[in-house]
Amino acid sequence: MSTELDNIELRPARRQFLKGAAALATTLIAPGVMLYKTGQASSDIASTPRWGLLIDTNALSEADIDACVSACQREHGWKVEPGSKTDAQWIRKVKLTDAESGHQRFLPMMCQHCEDPPCVDVCPTGASFKRADGIVLVNKHTCIGCRYCMMACPYKARSFIHENLKDQLPVAPRGKGTVESCTLCVHRVDRDGANAVPACAEAVNQGGRKTILFGDLNDPQSGISRRLRELGAVRLRADMGLNPGVRYQGL
Ligand code: SF4
Ligand code: SF4
Repeated sequence: MSTELDNIELRPARRQFLKGAAALATTLIAPGVMLYKTGQASSDIASTPRWGLLIDTNALSEADIDACVSACQREHGWKVEPGSKTDAQWIRKVKLTDAESGHQRFLPMMCQHCEDPPCVDVCPTGASFKRADGIVLVNKHTCIGCRYCMMACPYKARSFIHENLKDQLPVAPRGKGTVESCTLCVHRVDRDGANAVPACAEAVNQGGRKTILFGDLNDPQSGISRRLRELGAVRLRADMGLNPGVRYQGL
């Protein structure tokens, strides 16, 4: 298995960069009331879900992230062949190092399923799109491979397929000359709804662990919303205002 490993040194300024507006929000509200906006649309309970992930970086080891990557590969049939020009970015391992203490932490980085996704804004054909339930996808049939979306994505979450493919899986049709990224395991979501468990979460939630939670950010009673209320979390680069559906604890 070959995965991209980013090394990010967490100096105080860098940590602030990652947390962005999430940190700012904590200074604006009364303690114990609401630590941050959870992604819900004001006080209205939306009739449609907004699917998201809550990732507990405190509970994830480097081996856990590798397991997430392997599970995603198996589920969708993508792999990084030796010598391939295709640098698949469905999910990758990012290492954070605190510059002062040397403490290291790993996190999985995948498409953040932004509420306001720039990858959708720049797509000239509409192939890059967001579903009503918040999942951001690429339509392989209308993608022309211009890669504008890859340039627009601040999370480096998309990749381009350079080669002809074989052994594709029905749940994840792919194609040379198109762009792809994490689908939030949309085939599982469409099958199981709120009970869906994405492959990466399944790989690390064995034995009752809840290191990666999937759920409805619009439902205040969902497990993910309750945990967000209880423990808080950050959005990566929250300062950009994209409101990702993927949230991280422990950063
Ligand atoms: Fe688009 Fe990137 Fe946001 Fe995913 S993380 S929705 S690819 S801008
Ligand atoms: Fe891969 Fe599914 Fe996890 Fe996305 S949610 S990174 S597609 S396993």
